[in-house]
Amino acid sequence: MSFSKLGLSPLILQALAEQGYEKPTTIQQKAIPIILNGKNLIAAAQTGTGKTASFVLPILQQLSQGQTQRKKRIRALILVPTRELAIQVDENIKAYGKHLNLKSMAMFGGVDYAPQKQALIEGVDILVATPGRLIDLYGQHAVHFEEVETLVLDEADRMLDMGFIEDINKILARLPENIQNLLFSATLSNPVRELARTAIDEAEEISIAKHSASKSNISQWLVTVDKDMKSSLLAHLLNENPWPQVLIFIETRHGAAKLVAQLEKRGIAAEAIHSGRNQASRARVLDEFKQGKVKYLVATGVAARGIDIDDLPCVINYDLPYPADDYVHRIGRTGRAGAQGEAVSLLSKDDFKNLCMIESRLGHLIERRVVEGFEPRKPVPTSILNYVPKHKREQ
Ligand code: AMP
Repeated sequence: MSFSKLGLSPLILQALAEQGYEKPTTIQQKAIPIILNGKNLIAAAQTGTGKTASFVLPILQQLSQGQTQRKKRIRALILVPTRELAIQVDENIKAYGKHLNLKSMAMFGGVDYAPQKQALIEGVDILVATPGRLIDLYGQHAVHFEEVETLVLDEADRMLDMGFIEDINKILARLPENIQNLLFSATLSNPVRELARTAIDEAEEISIAKHSASKSNISQWLVTVDKDMKSSLLAHLLNENPWPQVLIFIETRHGAAKLVAQLEKRGIAAEAIHSGRNQASRARVLDEFKQGKVKYLVATGVAARGIDIDDLPCVINYDLPYPADDYVHRIGRTGRAGAQGEAVSLLSKDDFKNLCMIESRLGHLIERRVVEGFEPRKPVPTSILNYVPKHKREQ
């Protein structure tokens, strides 16, 4: 299937070709015709699936056929949870719409109001905004909603995790009736469904399975342990559990090399891949792991990013990653194709902040276990589910 079959205009197709996109991703194939048809949509899809283009392209197409913008009147509104995502989505709009005469803007808190107000006066067709700042500017009459045709709630689960529900409801109440509503979320958890019920009626629903955090065939658990006992706990777990192969994630390359040596001392053969090893030896180790010759592979998150290994029976997080999406991607390497997978994380007090972000991202706490003989001296508190890191707080 090619992009031209989706009914996109030549100017958009040209921009996509310039981006080097050859064919639409699954979500793009499914979502674009629905949106171009004017239907409402609820989509379960994660970052990395091409979800942004799946709503940006049809919005560009629809707006390019309509009237031009008026002062302070936006025509499409995309709500996102963070400043980073606002910037990223806006960059995509500008890239895909570079041959069209449409204006877009990223709006978020923590910066001056004046340039955002000025841009709105000059005219914005597509506004990508975090909810708090948008409500502020709406209150100051800097932006009006009566010409909005399309609303997108992007990463709805994250917006809810970050406590934006009140702001979102205020915005929904001020939007015109009968606009097209699109909701994208990594997971369609109960709170997301609740939001969808209030925001959207009669929507088509699609679901793209990729690294889904809600995959029910992944059993996730944490083992609480003191930091200095992690390597012996890991050796214990590898000896006690019948996992045929395990991918072990660790934060630093120094840590990876040290861990392999510590496991070796306990009679466990493991290999490591990290940026400190040359390309040839990394490729060899990876190949041996894929062939099943290496049973335990220790990898830094960075080194593991480019590896296409999934369908693993077990992944272990030696420490908890930041950002939380990395956790979701890591556990997505197990439990593929209906097989049962296990995702185990070793949790010490130092991992607490990252744990809060991960559990907030998932929208639930992960089961905790204590292994006899490894009971922690320093307990790890229960996380706060709507935890938001300081630099992400905008209002
Ligand atoms: P997203 O899931 O929207 O965060 O997109 C993930 C990445 O895929 C982004 O870097 C996009 O630029 C890229 N991308 C989106 N659609 C396509 C496509 N059809 N072909 C190639 N890359 C794409």
